[in-house]
Amino acid sequence: MLKRTIKKLLVANRGEIAIRVCRACNELGIRTVAIYSKEDIGSYHRYKADESYLVGKGKKPIDAYLDIESIIEIAKAHQVDAIHPGYGFLSENTEFARRCGEEGLIFVGPKPEHLLIFGDKSTAREAAVHAGIPVIPGSGGPVHSVEEVKAFGKEHGFPIIIKAVLGGGGRGMRIVRSEKSVDEAFARATSEAKQAFGKEDVYVEKYLDNPRHIEVQVIADESGEIVHLYERDCSVQRRHQKVVEVAPSRGLGEKLRHEICEAAVRLMKSVNYLNAGTVEFLVGPRGNFYFIEVNPRVQVEHTITEMITGIDIVQSQIFIAEGYGLHDDPILIPEQKEIHTNGYAIQCRVTTEDPANNFMPDTGKIVAYRSGGGFGVRLDAGNAFTGSVITPYYDSLLVKLSTKAMTFKGAAAKMLRNLKEFRIRGIKTNIPFLINVVQHPVFLSGKVSTTFIDATPELFS
Ligand code: ADP
Repeated sequence: MLKRTIKKLLVANRGEIAIRVCRACNELGIRTVAIYSKEDIGSYHRYKADESYLVGKGKKPIDAYLDIESIIEIAKAHQVDAIHPGYGFLSENTEFARRCGEEGLIFVGPKPEHLLIFGDKSTAREAAVHAGIPVIPGSGGPVHSVEEVKAFGKEHGFPIIIKAVLGGGGRGMRIVRSEKSVDEAFARATSEAKQAFGKEDVYVEKYLDNPRHIEVQVIADESGEIVHLYERDCSVQRRHQKVVEVAPSRGLGEKLRHEICEAAVRLMKSVNYLNAGTVEFLVGPRGNFYFIEVNPRVQVEHTITEMITGIDIVQSQIFIAEGYGLHDDPILIPEQKEIHTNGYAIQCRVTTEDPANNFMPDTGKIVAYRSGGGFGVRLDAGNAFTGSVITPYYDSLLVKLSTKAMTFKGAAAKMLRNLKEFRIRGIKTNIPFLINVVQHPVFLSGKVSTTFIDATPELFS
């Protein structure tokens, strides 16, 4: 395979993931370039990079990080070889990946055609069907009328779920429990989809009661070699957004675990996937599992897979982008049969949201910040330090706290201790809520489904 050396890399992102990528590069001797919006002038990720440049002048805070041409201009003006998009922002933007290629910049991620397939949930689903992976009964392509939705509900039975084809981050979904709610749900779903994702197309599928969310981390090189790094259980969700993640899953059984991981690899092989990606599934109570989507990028919760496998996913992404094979020095990911998980890891997303006020994002200055720490603890923080000003412009993730131990019980105990050790003054966080979650008997039993949080009122007190 053709090797391309990356000497300088630009991170087209902010916050904790920009810092995560800079750290990976730093260890590899790769010079790093950060971009920042004017609102992020004091943002920590700037100082973790070797160089930093203002991006998207005159644009709104989020749009600055979506300004493809300005980012490419900065990269070219400063002799950048590669761009890592992190997650969110431009990470799944086909046009961005394509423009990078056109300008001779290495996009650290899959090919534009993969972003195209997996960026649209209905084409992703088609790919899964094509690869022989079970999917939830659904409309397949977009639905354009209330009548189509009603007919689907009649045929498959309620509840059903209407989803934006371009949806993400738990947004753009509506559960419909009976035929009489279809009109309103359809109108809302399409208008929300248009507003949030710029395209009103929605599709419909059967809504599964109390499933588990199980996802498989996959890494692929240019030669077509693909391995999985086992699964994460992301069933602890609030309003369809992940809150606490666990790796590996508990109580799935070796047979089912193997089948799901194998299905993930089969799907990615069928599209000749490249670089890191995650295949997400919902698993029903009888072990029936269904594909839901692929995230063709690094994910927020990649840390826990790194902790149990010992494989650095971000550095692997960079080596693959340089043209190395999985088993080449310096990646050296072993053959699939030699990849093992060791112990359990848990991640909590500590956010600047106030659980006492319906998780409203809080803003202002952090006047005191002390984190937990100790054996088996990993912190991936964004603007988490004394004196940091939390603005209302970006997502509310403050620090990812991950713990690892040989047993799940041990990892949960470490998590509880660490959450309790945090002292954050001046800004509200969701830590009191996370403390309730990680010591709840249902969480500790490992029998968590995606409705656990929303159906457990005592977690909110
Ligand atoms: P997003 O891209 O917004 O994250 P996903 O399709 O990955 O959306 O789904 C996010 C979550 O929504 C899932 O983990 C699950 O909790 C819930 N969900 C999605 N589809 C269904 C379904 N058909 N039945 C039950 N829950 C669903």
